[in-house]
Amino acid sequence: MADFIDKISNFNLSRRNFIKASTAAAASLSLVGCANTLMPASTNPAANQEEKWVTVACWHNCGGRCLNKALVVDGVVIRQKTDDTHPDSPDFPQQRACPRGRSQRQQIFGTDRLRYPMKRKNWNPGDGGKRELRGRDEWVRISWEEALDHVASEIKRIKETYGNKSILAKSSTQALNAYGGAMTFWGCTSDGAWPKPQQFMNGGRSRGSNDRLDLKNSKLIVLWGANPVWSSGGNPAYNFKQAKEAGAKFIVVDPYYNDTAQLLADEWIPVRPGTDTALLLGIAHYMITNNLHDQEFLDKYCAGFDADHMPAGADPKENFKDYVLGTYDGEPKTPLVLQ
Ligand code: SF4
Repeated sequence: MADFIDKISNFNLSRRNFIKASTAAAASLSLVGCANTLMPASTNPAANQEEKWVTVACWHNCGGRCLNKALVVDGVVIRQKTDDTHPDSPDFPQQRACPRGRSQRQQIFGTDRLRYPMKRKNWNPGDGGKRELRGRDEWVRISWEEALDHVASEIKRIKETYGNKSILAKSSTQALNAYGGAMTFWGCTSDGAWPKPQQFMNGGRSRGSNDRLDLKNSKLIVLWGANPVWSSGGNPAYNFKQAKEAGAKFIVVDPYYNDTAQLLADEWIPVRPGTDTALLLGIAHYMITNNLHDQEFLDKYCAGFDADHMPAGADPKENFKDYVLGTYDGEPKTPLVLQ
């Protein structure tokens, strides 16, 4: 990584430098790619070789930091398991990986895994190729050299044409900072919009919210468009179950009666996909007009709720309360009452 930063910090993103800078990443991918068999020990020619369980990262890196382990034989990963470092207990739960984390072995062993670089047959650097063929075009194999050439030349082209803001850096932000900066993913609709619902509605990983170990002290838990029994950062389903057993009530808002609702819901509120924002606004309208909200809390901890608490420089008319009440757009966001 340091080498990569060195190279692009000189704004000299040549193919050769890009290849050198990407060596670490390519090496880790090659470890994944070299594992080519999943056989029972009795038929595995590596059975007599030294086996070693090593702790590995979950490279989905959702933030859950769950424990994954790989069984390595002669430098090849042949099996995977999760946390078994201690007995599971409510006070000291195992940090077991979710199905997504455990399915990483499919990225290693799956017959349809990506084994070499490919590109769309009609895609060419510089113009995006025939856009109408996206999703329908054939895929053709290319060499690593060619792939790295494309990545390097496209980053340069995009920067020169649209500026650094047009580069989305999901990770390796530091390296791109040395290349003039990039859009970090907390500033976009993906991770920008996701962490707050994840934190406050989905009960997932704790980013400034109460620790999930505190869930069992809750009286009411609302899960909004969430199915943590299947997948959620940090896999908090175990903690939700503890909260349920401690007496917490659950309301699950989701278009379908998902596994989490089946396990936990005292009340399931089905909504049509895409209508949950309208539902939230209707609830907010009801709360505001019936004075059910905690104005003191909002005054103290929130910016933007009403005209008197807007961030510096913001138009006071753009506050949330007036939007919900329809003060300026003439459209109160009232709940629709079906007769
Ligand atoms: S919750 Fe799943 S994807 Fe996230 S870190 Fe844990 S195993 Fe990986």
